[in-house]
Amino acid sequence: MKKISCNTLVIGGGPAGIMSAIKASEKNSDVILVEKNNRLGVKLLITGKGRCNITNAENNVKKLVEKYGKNGKFLYSCLNNFCTQDVVNMLEKYGLNTKIEQGNRIFPDSDKSADVLNLFVKLLKKQKVEIMVNSGVRKIVTEHRTDNTEQKTPSTKIIKKVILDDGTEIEAKKYILTTGGKSYPATGSTGEAFLWLRTLGHNITKLSPALVPIKCKESFIEELEGLSLRNVEIAAYQDNKKRLSQFGEAVFTNNGMSGPIIQDMSSNVGELLENGEVKLKIDFKPALDFPTLDKRLQKDFQEFSNKMFRNSLDKLLPKSLIPIIIKLSKIDPDKKVNLITKEERNKLLHLLKEFELIVTALEKFSKAIITKGGVDLKEVDPKTMQSKIVDNLYFAGEILDLDGPTGGYNLQICWSTGYAAGTSS
Ligand SMILES: Cc1cc2nc3c(=O)[nH]c(=O)nc-3n(C[C@H](O)[C@H](O)[C@H](O)COP(=O)(O)OP(=O)(O)OC[C@H]3O[C@@H](n4cnc5c(N)ncnc54)[C@H](O)[C@@H]3O)c2cc1C
Repeated sequence: MKKISCNTLVIGGGPAGIMSAIKASEKNSDVILVEKNNRLGVKLLITGKGRCNITNAENNVKKLVEKYGKNGKFLYSCLNNFCTQDVVNMLEKYGLNTKIEQGNRIFPDSDKSADVLNLFVKLLKKQKVEIMVNSGVRKIVTEHRTDNTEQKTPSTKIIKKVILDDGTEIEAKKYILTTGGKSYPATGSTGEAFLWLRTLGHNITKLSPALVPIKCKESFIEELEGLSLRNVEIAAYQDNKKRLSQFGEAVFTNNGMSGPIIQDMSSNVGELLENGEVKLKIDFKPALDFPTLDKRLQKDFQEFSNKMFRNSLDKLLPKSLIPIIIKLSKIDPDKKVNLITKEERNKLLHLLKEFELIVTALEKFSKAIITKGGVDLKEVDPKTMQSKIVDNLYFAGEILDLDGPTGGYNLQICWSTGYAAGTSS
């Protein structure tokens, strides 16, 4: 059986593992990066729809920390040491230019996530990191180390070695675990490390799919599949009270809704669902209040006064939405618009400003952009990413109980925690 030893073993070749290995190799020679897939960064390649929203242009640590919610404070130290602009500088130093788009999202100039991955692989090779693909870790073997000189000190738990799927044993001084969460398991992040960590004594907080599409009850949604909405406002209601709302882009799926604002709302909607029914209300015309939109409708109806209702909404709504709105309005589609009553127009107004969908569930991990929950942050040193339970173990990336909204914030978790784990391991 093959036996290998090294200084630092990084387990998982996603963005967090890649950054950890690059930084670890600047301090130590002899860094190995093991990845179970036949190539590194499979998930990184599909980020930002293949364009990779690398990070966000917000570079103020305090404001960034707020983006990560209640666990964001954990990131203070590592964001201070390696923030969003540092990522951009690093990439640009090695020849990858970036651009800023809507919402401060940073993308590579080329719009190709493969360019981001290729650059990082080049850096790994430059740093002489040994990359082992097709090398899934199957088992982690621990032991207790007692310090004989300090008899009062309790023994510490350490990782002695890991065993790969093919039986190869790797023994390292330090281990950085960057195996990701449970979302999009087809990319390799299947979550087995959470099982190992529980047996090692780590607490894993509740794992749930986040930044995920929302499923809705209405069967007509199927007819809207693929329809993108820009500049809309979507609110989530429970017990007739508005609980949250977001403005921006969304898209209809075959059974519900997705897109940036829906994904960003999904965690909160999931929490609301635990307490009862949740309704989404879409405002297709948030820039116009009810009276202004009513005036606009009246103007359109005057212009098209001899047209049938079914042919009068082209200027106002996307094509595929018109038949649904007409059906829900219960206005006769063949009615001449100059005969539409105030009451009917009111109904129409409500459909345009408060288009209602009943939420049935969130989609599963297989469709979630990220995993909420992970290694309990109370058990990790925020400066070094070192485990407080297992002495020679470090973490980085999505495996930690950290998550952010869309906009490059989740990859930034990987870059900053990977930087911290790599430099301190
Ligand atoms: C469709 C999609 C689009 C996204 N777009 C963006 C975006 O544009 N911007 C953004 O900020 N975030 C985006 N994200 C989120 C981002 O991709 C993740 O937050 C990030 O990839 C997490 O990195 P990681 O290194 O922690 O884990 P991963 O990228 O999941 O990498 C973990 C690696 O560990 C390997 N591994 C797992 N178990 C083992 C094992 N036992 N042995 C060896 N290797 C193992 C896996 O094969 C995998 O390659 C997107 C996610 C998805 C799914």
